[in-house]
Amino acid sequence: MNEKQKIPGEKIALIEEYLPGENTFEDEDSIRATAIGEIRLDSTERLASIERQKQITVPKVGDIIIGVVEANLPSMIAIMIKFVNGKKANSDLECICVTRHLRKKNVALAKDVVKVEIISHINGTIHSTIDSPELGVLFTKCRKCYGTVVKMRDAVKCKDCGWIDDRKLSLDFGKSEFMTQD
Ligand SMILES: [Zn+2]
Repeated sequence: MNEKQKIPGEKIALIEEYLPGENTFEDEDSIRATAIGEIRLDSTERLASIERQKQITVPKVGDIIIGVVEANLPSMIAIMIKFVNGKKANSDLECICVTRHLRKKNVALAKDVVKVEIISHINGTIHSTIDSPELGVLFTKCRKCYGTVVKMRDAVKCKDCGWIDDRKLSLDFGKSEFMTQD
């Protein structure tokens, strides 16, 4: 914490110098903070206030995540969280998703857009599942030529080179509304 960082209850100014602003309260001759944040002393308005720190939103169990696959490992994928319940994530958090039991060669590839659900937090790692029908890959490209692919039952086929590849597709695969949410 730097010197400008204040914690609730901490004295931030004297009442004879300033008026209590946002996230503060008057305590006899002092103004004290009611929130964690940075002190703002406005000398024209003579206002002492606390600017709240932006809270990092850690997804909760049951939250639906849309993210980009960072790594595609034999038994799991690592996903950079982009949206939590449809809202743009305000931090670069990652979650992992175990894929070993799905018996697919390519559940999702790196750079694929996937929808997963948070199932637990274990030792600081956020775990998710991709198993339900609505969960899975939302957007992917051909592994061979990076061409556009179309859905074929539970696989995808490249429109350009004809390569057929497996993925764990979401029911929402091919609907692209999620791309315009930022
Ligand atoms: Zn292709």
